[in-house]
Amino acid sequence: MKLPTVALVGRPNVGKSTLFNKIVGKRVSIIEDSPGVTRDRIYQEATYNNKKFYLIDTGGIDTSKMDFNTEIKLQASIAIEEADVVIFIVDGKEGLTSNDLVVRDLLRKSNKKVIVAINKVDVKETKNNLYDFYELGFDNYIPISSIHNTGFIELMDEVTKDFKEVEEKEDTRCKFCFIGRPNVGKSSLINALLNENRVVVSPVAGTTRDSIDSILKYKKSMKISKSIHYLDQ
Ligand code: GDP
Ligand code: MG
Repeated sequence: MKLPTVALVGRPNVGKSTLFNKIVGKRVSIIEDSPGVTRDRIYQEATYNNKKFYLIDTGGIDTSKMDFNTEIKLQASIAIEEADVVIFIVDGKEGLTSNDLVVRDLLRKSNKKVIVAINKVDVKETKNNLYDFYELGFDNYIPISSIHNTGFIELMDEVTKDFKEVEEKEDTRCKFCFIGRPNVGKSSLINALLNENRVVVSPVAGTTRDSIDSILKYKKSMKISKSIHYLDQ
């Protein structure tokens, strides 16, 4: 089953990457104060309430610097093409700009479900500018603060409304744990079993400090995978 795709679209510096990181739960996109930092489209798998989907952070669209923009515009068009749902992020602090209208025109043509996320609601300017955005002409407007998680649940409920829930399969794999005092050859044995150099083998006692999980497939015909748990004290 192909997972649904959600694209974050909006001009630079509106907070796409900040929201992207909130949704996927880790820092993948680069966040910077200067506009146009995220040049490449970034895809990540994300889950919200057992609903799985792909998330794309587009580079944003800005019409004031043409060279850069042609590229960014192209990226956003691709994202829009691939997405089932588009989160159109606007900067409430800055208010509605002519560049937002350019993005709006692109999105209108896409005929995709568009949710307007009015970001930076934590600053007072946003509250004053809020209603200007209704001029964009979409159905859904959700004020959010990507930094403070305000409106996050409301936004994500709307984004994933038509997505199917995926059942988490129980992990039935056998688990092995390798324990032994340092330097007895645990890592070498595991590497031999896994046939790869996943664990750092070192003659220095206590090299592997963390436990490491690896998946071992024993005999090609066997469907069950076995997990090896390696511990070093
Ligand atoms: P992008 O260019 O659209 O990806 O924007 P970024 O996520 O890189 O954010 C641009 C700037 O806006 C950064 O300085 C962020 O810290 C700031 N920012 C993002 N979200 C919020 C928010 O909810 N509130 C406020 N006040 N600032 C935000
Ligand atoms: Mg970015």
